[in-house]
Amino acid sequence: MFKITPQCSICEKEIQPNEEIYVKMRYPEKKGMTEIKAFIQYQGKIICEECNNK
Ligand SMILES: [Zn+2]
Repeated sequence: MFKITPQCSICEKEIQPNEEIYVKMRYPEKKGMTEIKAFIQYQGKIICEECNNK
Protein backbone atom coordinates (compact mmCIF):
# COMPACT_ATOMS: atom_id res chain seq x y z
CA MET A 1 0.00 0.00 0.00
CA PHE A 2 2.75 2.41 0.96
CA LYS A 3 6.19 2.55 -0.64
CA ILE A 4 7.60 4.23 2.40
CA THR A 5 7.36 2.66 5.83
CA PRO A 6 4.30 4.21 7.40
CA GLN A 7 4.96 5.83 10.74
CA CYS A 8 2.85 7.74 13.17
CA SER A 9 3.74 11.41 12.75
CA ILE A 10 3.45 12.04 16.50
CA CYS A 11 5.12 9.12 18.29
CA GLU A 12 6.99 7.81 15.20
CA LYS A 13 5.76 4.32 15.90
CA GLU A 14 5.76 2.02 12.91
CA ILE A 15 2.25 1.28 11.76
CA GLN A 16 1.45 -2.41 11.90
CA PRO A 17 -0.63 -4.26 9.30
CA ASN A 18 -4.36 -3.97 9.97
CA GLU A 19 -3.75 -1.28 12.56
CA GLU A 20 -6.39 1.41 12.48
CA ILE A 21 -4.89 4.76 11.54
CA TYR A 22 -5.99 8.31 10.98
CA VAL A 23 -4.67 10.46 8.16
CA LYS A 24 -4.80 14.22 8.34
CA MET A 25 -4.50 15.75 4.91
CA ARG A 26 -5.82 18.38 2.59
CA TYR A 27 -8.39 17.31 0.12
CA PRO A 28 -6.72 17.26 -3.33
CA GLU A 29 -7.35 20.28 -5.48
CA LYS A 30 -7.79 18.09 -8.49
CA LYS A 31 -11.12 16.44 -9.02
CA GLY A 32 -11.33 12.86 -7.93
CA MET A 33 -9.29 10.87 -5.49
CA THR A 34 -7.03 8.98 -7.88
CA GLU A 35 -4.00 10.86 -6.54
CA ILE A 36 -4.81 10.00 -2.96
CA LYS A 37 -1.82 7.72 -2.37
CA ALA A 38 0.63 10.34 -3.59
CA PHE A 39 -1.10 12.95 -1.46
CA ILE A 40 -0.83 10.85 1.66
CA GLN A 41 2.87 10.29 1.04
CA TYR A 42 3.67 13.94 0.40
CA GLN A 43 1.19 15.83 2.53
CA GLY A 44 -0.61 13.38 4.75
CA LYS A 45 0.15 12.97 8.41
CA ILE A 46 -0.49 9.47 9.66
CA ILE A 47 -1.65 9.32 13.25
CA CYS A 48 -1.96 6.05 15.13
CA GLU A 49 -5.10 5.31 17.08
CA GLU A 50 -3.31 5.71 20.39
CA CYS A 51 -2.15 9.25 19.64
CA ASN A 52 -5.49 10.19 18.13
CA ASN A 53 -7.23 9.24 21.35
CA LYS A 54 -5.02 11.49 23.46
ZN1 LIG B 1 1.32 7.55 17.56
